[in-house]
Amino acid sequence: MKKYLVQIGFVLAVFLLILICGQISIPGLKSLPQNEVMASVSQVIATATIKTTTTSRSDQTLNIPIIIYHSVRPTRPEETEAQKRYNISPDRFEEQLTYLKNNGYTTISLDQMVADLERGTTSPITKPVILTFDDGWKNQYEYAFPLLKKYNDTATFYVYTNPIEKDERFLIWSQIKEMSDAGMTIGSHSVYHPYFSKATPAELKKEIFNSKKTLEKHLGKKVSHFATPYGQTSSQIEKLIKEAGYTTGRVTTKKSPITKENLFHLSAFFVPQNLQDFIGLLENKN
Ligand SMILES: [Zn+2]
Repeated sequence: MKKYLVQIGFVLAVFLLILICGQISIPGLKSLPQNEVMASVSQVIATATIKTTTTSRSDQTLNIPIIIYHSVRPTRPEETEAQKRYNISPDRFEEQLTYLKNNGYTTISLDQMVADLERGTTSPITKPVILTFDDGWKNQYEYAFPLLKKYNDTATFYVYTNPIEKDERFLIWSQIKEMSDAGMTIGSHSVYHPYFSKATPAELKKEIFNSKKTLEKHLGKKVSHFATPYGQTSSQIEKLIKEAGYTTGRVTTKKSPITKENLFHLSAFFVPQNLQDFIGLLENKN
């Protein structure tokens, strides 16, 4: 009799084990340890997943070329080398946009780049590239903006606020607003475009904080990206950019990795005129 009971006990134990493993489910037996066991298993899996995500977040480096443009207008025959360096003709610019489109590149916003880093996973977009336009020249609205729309591209326009509505070579608020509403990012490039290396701490604070306020007042939206004039930076400048509430600072032309910890020390490259050099820049990345 005792032996018989042991055998029944053994069979019941095996049956219980199968239930725990989730192989059989019987209505009315939901209160068996199955649920608890499965919950524990889920918890272990979740903990492992969080750990993996955290690891990839802190280690992640994005390879996204950030390109700097200034003027965009037809070239003039009498131009000096310096003027040429700061201008690209609409034809050359269109040639670059065509190359990007035909070769699988996608222009992305800085917000998207930050989101990719925050998420800690590789962007589903292959071959991303970031186009930035400095200073707020009116010809950017006249020549670059229509081409960006034509090719369904996005770009960031870093404007400095003092010449707006004062100097006819620069953008006016309605143009900046129109570009912003059309999906372009408007970033700050200071108030007066001074040499940051020569500015006092009080001046730096005004340049970084006040330009943000002015832009936000006119655009009715948050301005999250800052670029220092002349690519001049220091740890103090980068600290102020962060304190002002920006999420990125493009501050140098010296190569610098794009990581979550390095968002206030972003680097970018001047756009080359020649298509082969442009391709080289895209392929060498950042
Ligand atoms: Zn500038």
